[in-house]
Amino acid sequence: MPELPEVETIARKLRPELVGKRIVKADLLWSRTLATPTPAEFQKRTEGQEIRAVSRRAKYFVMELSDYYLFIHLRMSGDLYIKEVDTTQEKHDRLIFFITAEDDGMSKFVFNDTRKFGRVWLVRDPDEVVGGLGPEPLSDEFTAQWLYEGLQSRHRQLKPLLLDQSFLAGMGNIYTDEALHKARLHPLTVSDSVNREQAGALWEAIREVLQEGIRRNGASIDWAYRGGEFQNYFRVYDRKGQPCPVCGTAIERLVVGQRGTHVCPNCQRIGS
Ligand SMILES: [Zn+2]
Repeated sequence: MPELPEVETIARKLRPELVGKRIVKADLLWSRTLATPTPAEFQKRTEGQEIRAVSRRAKYFVMELSDYYLFIHLRMSGDLYIKEVDTTQEKHDRLIFFITAEDDGMSKFVFNDTRKFGRVWLVRDPDEVVGGLGPEPLSDEFTAQWLYEGLQSRHRQLKPLLLDQSFLAGMGNIYTDEALHKARLHPLTVSDSVNREQAGALWEAIREVLQEGIRRNGASIDWAYRGGEFQNYFRVYDRKGQPCPVCGTAIERLVVGQRGTHVCPNCQRIGS
């Protein structure tokens, strides 16, 4: 599933092609792709809207329109791309926006989603979708002090807490495993047992792995997402049995909160 760096990469790539264009018409091919509003309202409200900005919040792709915000969550297999208007419709295209193009013609902005878990929201107030999310880990709001206090005020295992989008936005399985290894913290460590120094190391590790992920255009292990190369630089994720880059011990895979989790049993010890 695409995480913060993957969605950021998609937003950065599509931004110059979308901003300033106008939606001529929306063609909703699978109605349950739409979380809100109704398909009829969606088609009416998007028609003629100008795309003012393209960004990302947590794992959501965001388009600011003249009067609305459009959020897309790619979930397991969603993908976004721009195509020439006369290209053939693909089997798993769920939503197509016909948008104005440079040459007075049109192009297609397509949401393709094989497994149908992706969702689209069109709202006036962005808080309707993202109001309950925690801070962006790369924003100034996310400080080492904030993280320390957040860990102290909860009594939860580190990995499920970091994956909880209402605590911190944008982290998924890959970047959480990578950050915990970099900070030498075990995923099962209970949050309020983490001291100030460890919280500082975790804060730094989270920012570093996300920044590196963005710099490498995300990871391309997800079959729907391609183009990134962060998968070639994983420290622990998906590396069961391979040597830890720090100490050489074989990486182990365990299951934490139903998620496959990768640790170095030497570098990461519970409660250490
Ligand atoms: Zn190690």
